[in-house]
Amino acid sequence: MGKILRVLSWRNMLVLSLAINFSLILKILKGDRERGDSWDRTAYVSIWPVVSTTASGSSSLSSASCNYSKIEEDDDRIINLKFGDPTVYETYWQENGEVTTMVIPGWQSLSYFSDENNLCWFLEPELGKEIVRVHKVVGNAVTQDRYIVVGTGSTQLYQAALYALSPHDDSGPINVVSTAPYYSSYPLITDYLKSGLYRWGGDAKTYKEDGPYIELVTSPNNPDGFLRESVVNSSKGILIHDLAYYWPQYTPITSAADHDVMLFTASKSTGHAGMRIGWALVKGRETARKMIEYIELNTIGVSKDSQLRVAKVLKVVSDSCGNETAKSFFDHSYDAMYERWKLLKQAAKDTKRFSVPDFASQRCNFFGRVFEPQPAFAWFKCREEIVDCEKFLREEKKILTKSGKHFGDEQSYVRISMLDRDTNFNIFLHRISSSSNSTL
Ligand code: PMP
Repeated sequence: MGKILRVLSWRNMLVLSLAINFSLILKILKGDRERGDSWDRTAYVSIWPVVSTTASGSSSLSSASCNYSKIEEDDDRIINLKFGDPTVYETYWQENGEVTTMVIPGWQSLSYFSDENNLCWFLEPELGKEIVRVHKVVGNAVTQDRYIVVGTGSTQLYQAALYALSPHDDSGPINVVSTAPYYSSYPLITDYLKSGLYRWGGDAKTYKEDGPYIELVTSPNNPDGFLRESVVNSSKGILIHDLAYYWPQYTPITSAADHDVMLFTASKSTGHAGMRIGWALVKGRETARKMIEYIELNTIGVSKDSQLRVAKVLKVVSDSCGNETAKSFFDHSYDAMYERWKLLKQAAKDTKRFSVPDFASQRCNFFGRVFEPQPAFAWFKCREEIVDCEKFLREEKKILTKSGKHFGDEQSYVRISMLDRDTNFNIFLHRISSSSNSTL
């Protein structure tokens, strides 16, 4: 009898402990769901099915290259959205890139020279032709009677423009200003060599000094995406327009830009940042000549192989715009940006934990319809209790961003790239929408 009792109580204990454990597990799972902070894969995929529908109602981006059912959140993974690395375009070029494939034989690109009859003797004629064509197709810049200067990214062209526009007498360095929040690289690039020709002069809004100065106008602006005009009210200002983002996937094209010095780049137009090609459209011959002189002294020209590759990519982009049967490059990229901004704005509205700028709609001459800007970066503001938004996102959400302080603004702002791959963008959205760890 004692033996039976001993066995029974052992069995009873086992059943009892199983029952307690089971109900505990159920409770934890239920609690997690109620708090909404579990990493439930099914729920996650159904919350953010991203880029499966399109703004124009046309066919979606290929599911083969964008398989959301395979997205796995990994709490420890660090998501780096600090840089504007344009990998969002990878999908399009994987699907349509075959026509841009080039074979460059070993006997090509031996000479330094591309076209000795051109003021810009290192510009490949094919690239010059395709630059003019793509601006004509998109209608975003005047190219007639302009000099085209090619550069190793628009980063080199920015420095060439400073060299060309600064007085070369002994009047001392000219101030270079831009309205805050400004592109964070401007002050660094301007001052890193401690040039005797130019120096960083800070926020254009508060600039009061007499005498000549250079004002940088970035439109749409990096980091906040707004269209801009010069702000310093003086006839002594020399303007450089950085139009890296004046393309229809980011903003309505309202007119053909017509300024003295306009900078463009393959990095943000087609997404080929690694080719390191930018171009300047310059009105004045003397300014163009001095920019060319800078590039001669700096790198003796620009890689011919890269120029030829960008020429081919631009040709494919322009051709795609005239193709009635398939989606153009700009249709694809517009849809991707549209979908991302729709989800981000919805998350801001639902959670009320952060804000992003409100933009006014305008009519785009290229697409022939009205829409809101959908910039390459989100100028993201944490809610008031969080003073240092960059630190908060890094420590609590494992998301790397760039603090507002680098752009001449407050630390409650961060700049977040909207150009990363789908997987990273989805995890970012999920983390900022989830209440796990702490409230945003
Ligand atoms: N201007 C702006 C406003 C940019 O955002 C960037 C890239 N982040 C550049 C210039 C530099 O472009 P590139 O890659 O052609 O040097």
